[in-house]
Amino acid sequence: MSLDINKLLRDNIRTMKPYSSARDEFSGEAAAFLDANENPYNSPWNRYPDPRQLKLKARVSEIKNIPVKNIFLGNGSDEPIDLLFRAFCEPAKDNIVSIHPTYGMYRVAADTNNVGVNLVPLTADFELDADAVLAAVNTDTKIIFLCSPNNPSGNALNNKGMVHIIESFSGIVVVDEAYIDFCPEKSFLPVLSQYPNLVILQTFSKAWGMAGLRLGMAFADEQIIEVLSRIKYPYNLSILTQQKGLELLADEQQKLNWVAIILKEREKLIADLKKYPFVIKVYATDANFVLAKMHDPRGIYQYLVDEKIIVRDRSSIALCEGCLRISVGSPEENATLMEALDGLI
Ligand SMILES: *Cc1c(COP(=O)(O)O)cnc(C)c1O
Repeated sequence: MSLDINKLLRDNIRTMKPYSSARDEFSGEAAAFLDANENPYNSPWNRYPDPRQLKLKARVSEIKNIPVKNIFLGNGSDEPIDLLFRAFCEPAKDNIVSIHPTYGMYRVAADTNNVGVNLVPLTADFELDADAVLAAVNTDTKIIFLCSPNNPSGNALNNKGMVHIIESFSGIVVVDEAYIDFCPEKSFLPVLSQYPNLVILQTFSKAWGMAGLRLGMAFADEQIIEVLSRIKYPYNLSILTQQKGLELLADEQQKLNWVAIILKEREKLIADLKKYPFVIKVYATDANFVLAKMHDPRGIYQYLVDEKIIVRDRSSIALCEGCLRISVGSPEENATLMEALDGLI
């Protein structure tokens, strides 16, 4: 299957010309950069950053084993999520389909862009019902958003179901893999080239520990990456982000070590939580957090806040009734949580 991107794009996006900076046309060492009205003083901060982020992309390409032409880098994953709406979804007309419960940003980006949202519930065990998702599609559906491992449930969605959706839907399918470093064998990245309508989102905010840097990735067919690059802010990643990102990406072993510690702590956290009489169920997780169903989740949430421990109250969300979402912290943080919960029995 090949991608007819022109059929999917909004008319205004198909025909627009990108902003072109002089620095796009020239690379190398100039005798004098007099093209961008920069201040000649205060180096290196006086210069605009590389709009194509070539050094950082080369490193990401190496780490992910994906060609540079299939990589988009953004100001967090939030940026490619928003850009996908702006590229493909006609406001007040088109819609997206996603699952429920899932990450809240898809709806925020849809609302911002005045695009409809059709959410299909997961099963009671948070499993994907692929046929129900496909049945929710209509002629104005441009994008299906899936999140695997899913936030807030923590489980990786059924692979066959996701493949069925990608192969059956003629629009764009986004698989958000923000938590994939905690279960790398379930990534779609190695098979990206088989699916021209697939966009994989990943981030440096979780396993890589760089949430404060705001650095997200989208991987997709060259034509999709070209469109996202055309409509982004030209200088979407600052010099600081590009430099610090490159520096922190030098040490992949560090990330692997953190993931190993977090996975070990996760198993301990699950076992510890199950001991409390007020904990009804701890859901299976493929991410760096757990969803736990409890008696009186709000009371426990408030008690923990009073103890200066902040978890996420998801108890008012359909299918998450009674649930708190708890990130796996350091061994010390997790011990602090358990000490506090001990105070409840
Ligand atoms: C945390 C998270 C992200 C990361 O967003 P950034 O903007 O890259 O920090 C993306 N998707 C999901 C589902 C998340 O939970």
